[in-house]
Amino acid sequence: MNVLVFADSFNGSAVKAAHEAASYGAKIANGGNTSIVTYGEISESSMNELASYGITNILHANGINDMDPARLAKLVEAAANETGAEVVIFSHDYTGKSVAPMLAARMKAGLVTGVIDYPSTDGSFTVKKAVFSGKALAEVKFNTEKKVISLLPNSVGKTKTEASANVTVFNPDLGTSSVTIKEFKAKGGEGILLTEAELVVSAGRGLKGPENWGMIEELAKELGAGTACSRPVSDIGWRPHHEHVGQTGIAIRPNLYIAVGISGAIQHLAGVNGSKVIVVINTDSDAPFFKAADYGIVGDAFTVVPKLIAAVKEFKAAQA
Ligand SMILES: Cc1cc2nc3c(=O)[nH]c(=O)nc-3n(C[C@H](O)[C@H](O)[C@H](O)COP(=O)(O)OP(=O)(O)OC[C@H]3O[C@@H](n4cnc5c(N)ncnc54)[C@H](O)[C@@H]3O)c2cc1C
Repeated sequence: MNVLVFADSFNGSAVKAAHEAASYGAKIANGGNTSIVTYGEISESSMNELASYGITNILHANGINDMDPARLAKLVEAAANETGAEVVIFSHDYTGKSVAPMLAARMKAGLVTGVIDYPSTDGSFTVKKAVFSGKALAEVKFNTEKKVISLLPNSVGKTKTEASANVTVFNPDLGTSSVTIKEFKAKGGEGILLTEAELVVSAGRGLKGPENWGMIEELAKELGAGTACSRPVSDIGWRPHHEHVGQTGIAIRPNLYIAVGISGAIQHLAGVNGSKVIVVINTDSDAPFFKAADYGIVGDAFTVVPKLIAAVKEFKAAQA
């Protein structure tokens, strides 16, 4: 079957999640064509990297920069028509969440968001997704000819191939934009983008106040990790809102999630329980987070975190 993958980019490079979506698309195309549609400024090396996941064509809409989801849906629809795609894959990130439903409506396609695995191989095209804040898994079967999927980042990994793709400039007429971006300001300063981070150090109300986040930032810096927080911490202004993870914040699936002074309420877990390895540091051995943890440290964050920082520094020095 022919598959189309939407690749979003940031600062001239495709986002990491788009690599996984490309690899996913190539695998389910199973010998059919896998194309990518991307837009705006994106470097040649980033396109080569995308192609290396088994991509045959890259359609590059270099004339679009406006991030209007309605226009992006039109762009992806035009690319799906151009490539004869039966399945369109998005990453389940900010852009994917807003564009995938619009595209599905335009194409009269079935839509499943937040997919976490490859479709079944029994010919029925059934996919899995987490439901009820991650407490259950649903298997969802498509009944439509056209299918739109958004893939939860870090769900299936990625596999490189020897492939190289044809790159075509693709600027279909999308009409005028319904919105105008007045200002674009990247968040997160010098830190690692939370949605891109493979390692995350997160902290909650157990840290007592914003003045105590220095050790969290230092541990994150030593590990090359992003920083996150629980919702009350961002609600009371100790940390910026873009760090809030959970049911009402960002859902992340890093390889390592270190939770410091976070109780592990279900609404928090909903955004992080897909992490590959969870480490919990909490003074209360009955904190619910320990039930979801791969490694638990019952102890005071103000003692444990400095020791972790020292251990990471020592390890790095020994490797140098
Ligand atoms: C509709 C709804 C949506 C919500 N969405 C979200 C969401 O998206 N994300 C989210 O995070 N929450 C969300 N919440 C809130 C959630 O229910 C919890 O209240 C919240 O996650 C608790 O945050 P916390 O763990 O930081 O704080 P607390 O519950 O106060 O826990 C602090 C923890 O720190 C530990 N601790 C204290 N001192 C130390 C120390 N010195 N060292 C180590 N550990 C220590 C304590 O034992 C405790 O376990 C939502 C709630 C509702 C009702």
